[in-house]
Amino acid sequence: MKSKSNKSICKICGSDFARSGMTRHIKSCLGKHFKAKTKGKAKRLYYLHIYAFYNPDYFLHILISENARLEDLDNFLRDIWVECCGHMSSFMRPGQHQEIGMKNKINEIFEPGLTFSYMYDFGDTTELSIKNIEIFNGAIKSKKKIQLISRNSPPLVACDECNKNMAEIICAQCQWDGTGWLCKKCAKNHECGDEMFLPVVNSPRTGVCGYTGD
Ligand SMILES: [Zn+2]
Ligand SMILES: [Zn+2]
Ligand SMILES: [Zn+2]
Ligand SMILES: [Zn+2]
Repeated sequence: MKSKSNKSICKICGSDFARSGMTRHIKSCLGKHFKAKTKGKAKRLYYLHIYAFYNPDYFLHILISENARLEDLDNFLRDIWVECCGHMSSFMRPGQHQEIGMKNKINEIFEPGLTFSYMYDFGDTTELSIKNIEIFNGAIKSKKKIQLISRNSPPLVACDECNKNMAEIICAQCQWDGTGWLCKKCAKNHECGDEMFLPVVNSPRTGVCGYTGD
């Protein structure tokens, strides 16, 4: 599978950036636009950069309220990226294999510069890294505890068969041999059959277990 990444958008200012420039941009963008605009009840907000451990082209940049709990972050991640059939999940401290309780608050756990890991499903695990970049003072729009600042635009993956069209379907069986990402046309002639097919979705869990993104 060959993939290419488009630039992704910073939702605060609307500009687009490559993956490598995003963190630096958001730091300065938050400093410029965010603090200045928010008056009144300012809260401490943790800026987290979340990415797939094995493929950092899948990323999320979020602000999360200091009083949110790990279970809120867990729900958010399940919603946007990983939930397929209600598997177990857990957060772990850097370099440790001990679970951190879901009731812990963000401000009891995170510290700028530290990277935590998150595992979803202990069989076909999707592993994420979560780095706290900085802490800002401000308010999150509406009453939500989490505000999404940027998400990677869908990677462009060419069909393994024709190498011409974009892959839209993954054969769960053949993906490990490098022949499972298929365009619609090539999927029709693929011998494994429909029941092996999963949709290509913009998530590090695409093609895993029963993940369809719905
Ligand atoms: Zn921006
Ligand atoms: Zn599943
Ligand atoms: Zn094809
Ligand atoms: Zn197949």
